[in-house]
Amino acid sequence: MKVYPAETLIRPDLQAHIFSEALLHNVQALRSLCAEGTYFCAVVKANAYGHGLPEIVNILRQAEVDFFAVASIYEAIHIASIVQEIPTLILEPIHPAQPPDQIVAAARNGFHCVVATSEAIDFLSDILAGSGDVLDLHVNVESGMGRCGIDPEQAASLIRRIDRCSNARLAGVYTHFATADEDDLSYAWQQLEQFERFLDQNRIRHREDVLVHAANSAATIKIPQAHFDMVRCGISMYGYYSRRMAHPPISLQPVMRLQAPVVQIKHLPAGHSVSYGRSFVPFRDTIAALIPLGYADGYWRCFSNRARMKVGNAFVPVIGRVCMDQLLLDVTDVPDIAPGQMVTVIDNEHDSPCGVYALADLAGTICYEILTCVHAHINRIVH
Ligand SMILES: *Cc1c(COP(=O)(O)O)cnc(C)c1O
Repeated sequence: MKVYPAETLIRPDLQAHIFSEALLHNVQALRSLCAEGTYFCAVVKANAYGHGLPEIVNILRQAEVDFFAVASIYEAIHIASIVQEIPTLILEPIHPAQPPDQIVAAARNGFHCVVATSEAIDFLSDILAGSGDVLDLHVNVESGMGRCGIDPEQAASLIRRIDRCSNARLAGVYTHFATADEDDLSYAWQQLEQFERFLDQNRIRHREDVLVHAANSAATIKIPQAHFDMVRCGISMYGYYSRRMAHPPISLQPVMRLQAPVVQIKHLPAGHSVSYGRSFVPFRDTIAALIPLGYADGYWRCFSNRARMKVGNAFVPVIGRVCMDQLLLDVTDVPDIAPGQMVTVIDNEHDSPCGVYALADLAGTICYEILTCVHAHINRIVH
């Protein structure tokens, strides 16, 4: 077993198994939907959707992805410490309250940055003036997402500003879909139309060195007309459709399986309540297995008395409240269970009762949130 320096706080016994082949398969499958030459941007924000940023970045080198995308400059710097040949797009717009050395670092490392205001351009051109550094900038055009995109007229004037700035270069124009994961794609088509109008009016597609991009995973899978020069895939690279799809055109393989050990076996007499709040009272004499994992590790408290985990080939219920870092399973019906045995907390099968979709349904959320909650202190083991 690897020895972890105490200061990392990694928990060796809580294991997120990361399957390289599944990840590479998913990238390949998504790429197969795109025209030859379309760039593939691997979205690795939020600790690579909970899978572990360094581990995922390392595996993706083999996939020859064209870009990484992250939320913040901190993540981009982390990636640059691992791989230098692949550029990283930082999705959070540059803002004048940022420390100036971040702008310098972004330019020196060749990060691609987003700008949303002319103040941001003043800010970066003041910092880079006279340095000879040229920062690659992307402009996010509002087409209906209603988040951080900017209105078409403002976007057009921002592009003119960038074109006049000697320390910046227009490297990309993009938009983001609000509903590409839904069955009804009519709003997504309207967004696409808006975006194309912007591209035409500003003659963006005549500019060979400007990357046009729009598609997240769902649009990559369902709206080929939205691929443009680059697709930005997150969730489906990790093996999931944004929401379960009845007839997906590609098959995706979940990349992570989370496991934890049994650390104690307890014999509870019938009627003896379990955990905080006494929310579970067994009707029979019960054998319970203590698992050293809880909501502080990313296993939601609302799974109490509702979720199941996989022990051998059996699915057994979580009983009583999920605590901060402990929970109990009812293993009365599982023969020969002993401390040290590993149980599957989050399965890498789409239809598993402890798969990500099932857990997302239980928690009333989407698979993204279940995955990103898997805590960074969990030991990632790459296969
Ligand atoms: C997170 C994000 C993506 C990836 O979305 P998925 O649905 O996970 O594929 C793409 N583009 C932008 C701008 C994002 O913020």
